[in-house]
Amino acid sequence: MRWCKWIPAKCNVFMWRAWLDRIPTKVALSKRNINVGNNLCVLCDEAEETVDHVFAGCRFTDGIWNGVASWCRIPHLFLFSLHDVQNVNDQLGYSLVKKDIILGIMMIACWRIWKMRNEKVFKAANAITTQVLSDIKSLSFLWFNSRRKSARVGWKEWQSFSFDVM
Ligand SMILES: [Zn+2]
Repeated sequence: MRWCKWIPAKCNVFMWRAWLDRIPTKVALSKRNINVGNNLCVLCDEAEETVDHVFAGCRFTDGIWNGVASWCRIPHLFLFSLHDVQNVNDQLGYSLVKKDIILGIMMIACWRIWKMRNEKVFKAANAITTQVLSDIKSLSFLWFNSRRKSARVGWKEWQSFSFDVM
């Protein structure tokens, strides 16, 4: 798995656990004989809730990747697995810095999508694409700037995804 230096440890660790299939998706829990009712994805109710589904195949997540792609001005992302989430950058042919930024944003997105999923399960919250997207933008802005003091980026530049450090 690829690690990203500018995002918080909790996001890297989350991704690592997902990579090892160690986050409590319904399918993972039922494999451990824990009763979860049905195995359907909490976010879309359409397919089994596996790691690959939640972060790649899910209709809700696809809306998030659409938003990330248009924000970061990259082509539409066709993702089928968590492996794709981590490696889609290789197909893009951007500079190392830009790839690293996009990787970090995608890892933050996974972390936030899972948080949304848990809020839906435990607090009966609605999964709202625009809310998750705006959190991904503002959190990544905050975390990027706090770890790269030498090359701070303004909010306007971050929002339009056009800045010099690329
Ligand atoms: Zn789903």
